[in-house]
Amino acid sequence: MTDSPSFTEIRYDKPAERIARITLARADTRNAQDRKMLYEINAALDMAMHDDAVRVVILAADGPHFSSGHHLGDRSKVGDHGAPVMGVGGYELPGPEGYMAQEQEIYLGFCWRWRNLPKPTIAQVQGKAIAGGLMLVWPFDLIVASEDAEFSDPVVAFGVNGHEFFVHAYEVGHRRAKEMLFTGEPIGAAEAKTLGMVNHVVPRERLEAFTLELAGKVAQRPSVGLKLAKMSVNQSLDAQGMWTAVQSAFGLHHVGHAHNRIVYNGSFVDPDGARIIREQAKAGRKAAE
Ligand code: ZN
Repeated sequence: MTDSPSFTEIRYDKPAERIARITLARADTRNAQDRKMLYEINAALDMAMHDDAVRVVILAADGPHFSSGHHLGDRSKVGDHGAPVMGVGGYELPGPEGYMAQEQEIYLGFCWRWRNLPKPTIAQVQGKAIAGGLMLVWPFDLIVASEDAEFSDPVVAFGVNGHEFFVHAYEVGHRRAKEMLFTGEPIGAAEAKTLGMVNHVVPRERLEAFTLELAGKVAQRPSVGLKLAKMSVNQSLDAQGMWTAVQSAFGLHHVGHAHNRIVYNGSFVDPDGARIIREQAKAGRKAAE
């Protein structure tokens, strides 16, 4: 129905009445998210929020995998893909100050902003959602996964605590959170359902249709009720200290980056981390054969 040709990393459409859908459209890079993609997602979410005919938003992805995480080769700067939205500033200042400001804008800031959008959102996940890819899943309200979906955050190998939106203990429980972080191994769809991390697991070929059906049910409710229900559940988590915990972990994340920068000659991450994660992914593929 509606298309936005100016987007290059995503598509925006309205597949049914009252439903908007954002699709990560870089299957060629397994939807590795660069900064341009994050700003496009943010802009598309704003379009959906400002369209009174839309009641629910789906975030889906092309290709076999939802998202392989941050695009580590992205050298673009905050401001290259639109005006900064979180009001942080100082992105290019030297040292940890500038780098923390960047991550406050594009990771922590966007995730928390998307988590608090007034309309219900649904993540539709197939294949792998790794580290930064998981940060495109957890901010959303409902999660529908295909049977082959896998969720992991292996970045302890980089010498940090986990990805920047640190809600792991809320999502999978504190013991499972520690194991997923300590080992870097993925949580499969079936286990994620048992843990309450995903709402539904469906066969891959049913994923899109099932998610649309679920969105269709949500879209039958009045927007005000949906908004108030969402705010109330979010505030229940906030009353448990969720936002304080996330910010505290973000500070520790930057202790990790600052440490690595000193020890590894300016690198924000342990250079061995990429190799370890690659080997782990290869071993996982072998085990699945
Ligand atoms: Zn970081």
